[in-house]
Amino acid sequence: MNSNPPWQMARRAQRMNPSVIREILKVTERPGIISLAGGLPSADTFPVEAMRAASERVLRDTPREALQYAASEGYGPLRDWVAEQLAGQGLKVDASQVLITTGSQQGLDLVGKVLIDAGSRVAVESPTYLGALQAFNPYEPEYQSVPGDDDGPLADALALAQGARFFYVLPNFQNPSGRCLSETRRAELVTQAQALDLPLVEDNPYGDLWFDAPPPASLASRWSEGVVYLGSFSKVLAPGLRLGYVVAPKPLFPKLLQAKQAADLHSPGFNQRVVHEVIRDGFLRDHVPTIRTRYKAQRDAMRAALERHMPAGCHWTVPSGGMFFWVELPAGSDAMALLPKAVAHGMAFVPGAAFYADHPKPNSLRLSFVTVDAERIEQGIALLARALKETR
Ligand code: PMP
Repeated sequence: MNSNPPWQMARRAQRMNPSVIREILKVTERPGIISLAGGLPSADTFPVEAMRAASERVLRDTPREALQYAASEGYGPLRDWVAEQLAGQGLKVDASQVLITTGSQQGLDLVGKVLIDAGSRVAVESPTYLGALQAFNPYEPEYQSVPGDDDGPLADALALAQGARFFYVLPNFQNPSGRCLSETRRAELVTQAQALDLPLVEDNPYGDLWFDAPPPASLASRWSEGVVYLGSFSKVLAPGLRLGYVVAPKPLFPKLLQAKQAADLHSPGFNQRVVHEVIRDGFLRDHVPTIRTRYKAQRDAMRAALERHMPAGCHWTVPSGGMFFWVELPAGSDAMALLPKAVAHGMAFVPGAAFYADHPKPNSLRLSFVTVDAERIEQGIALLARALKETR
């Protein structure tokens, strides 16, 4: 017998990498570290009592149905709810186009499975959501980054993406940059994408977490045949439920459904019924504003702390919703090299380089303001500034 292990990895396995963020989170979970690195919502927002009561009702009224295998498409009343909710935001969809997924992360994987061949081009923002790159990578795409400014990806630059299978775009309070696309930019992007025959994959887990005014209408509401839309219950209820949804143009739906069947048969039926039971009578109308108020106060605390402590030459834009600040350190700084020093001082962040498909900006970093209270945000930013000053 040979001493080497008998396994040979598939080519796609070579393209799988541990998420830099998860690796960082392992270090930062040490007690005493002020971690502004996480991408988690605040656990204080989870509606524990409503979930408990709804779970009891589901187990009392439909225990066998809730614990049985269920339809791959998802629980009918929950699909109806999603379609109605989106119609209220100007996105007219039929419930038959709604696929309930195991988090929107699964939606990204299914989109990759159905739309990407090895060597296909996929256009992404610069920076973009790291988890999407992880989901797409095993399907072996070639990435095309689309440059942008504070209003979003530049419509003219979309020409670079011509011939790509799709452009993956996060219009609302993007993870990681916090950026929200302006109305004008949305209109220009959709016009340009239509002219180029470039389909869009619109990922929107943060759209409800606005602080002052709701974001402009979705891209899908402007071009329903050309956009796959992904939503999530993770940030408005709880991520541990692992429930999200994909809204797909009719020709694409059957393939996404088949891909989902192969992946997990269906998303947990019990969770779907409990979530529907929680939200069916307008629970989110009262609940989501409480999350907005809390996150807005924490956003304000981080803005004040950044202004107070960060040295000249650092830049950030103040997010109008979501969970993240994106900071650019003075040119020539390296956030990856700064991280161990910041951890030694007692705080953590995520270096921005992980969020680029290509041409990473080493001087960028992401800070979450939602899981740490205002006082510790202030301390954490002071420690970051101290670590930064020491390295210069
Ligand atoms: N898209 C984006 C932009 C995200 O930030 C996240 C969560 N970090 C997801 C998708 C996945 O969310 P979930 O699977 O919990 O719905």
